Amino acid sequence: MKRSRHWGETKPRWEWEKTKKVVVFAIDDKLGILTPKVIRWMQELLDEFAIPLDVMKGNLEYSTDLALVKKTLDQSIRENKIDWKEFEEKLRKVRYMGRTPYGVVILVDKVKYQFYDYKIPNEKRAYYGVGDDSGYVILRHTHKEAVRHEFAHMLGLCHHVPPRPDCIMNWECPTPSFCDDCKRKIAEMWQDEIEGR
Ligand SMILES: [Zn+2]
Ligand SMILES: [Zn+2]
Repeated sequence: MKRSRHWGETKPRWEWEKTKKVVVFAIDDKLGILTPKVIRWMQELLDEFAIPLDVMKGNLEYSTDLALVKKTLDQSIRENKIDWKEFEEKLRKVRYMGRTPYGVVILVDKVKYQFYDYKIPNEKRAYYGVGDDSGYVILRHTHKEAVRHEFAHMLGLCHHVPPRPDCIMNWECPTPSFCDDCKRKIAEMWQDEIEGR
């Protein structure tokens, strides 16, 4: 999906980034089994760039927030599909009230949920997941490439237009790795945190 922050631009920071925390919620309890794997892929990406964010599971630790995130998702269903723009808007309101201030990653049942198709020019319909640097990721699929791709959106990377076959930041996620441009951009965007300022 479209990014609101331009390439290489480091400011302004989103509020969630200031918490330096990302919480992973399994929307259906049976998906909880996937949470450790998702956290591992996310942590691996953070380690790759030395970004000091904490990634943690939230179902038990933030159970009241989970209820709120579930409710927010339920209210963002359109024609039986996830309206991810609506979800973002509602999540923003929730945060305005001081709840779920951190980055939110939710795992949803891929059989139960599809994504609403916004028919954005140059973009295919979201399939594996969606992610946005306003601080949320929704994952239908949890293989390594999907997790890295969507989490990288949350960290501020956009898609390549035109596509680059040597980078994960394309719709098809042709490779698990980032191209040199993306590596440089992510390092620039997180420079202050990486250097511990
Ligand atoms: Zn994407
Ligand atoms: Zn790239």
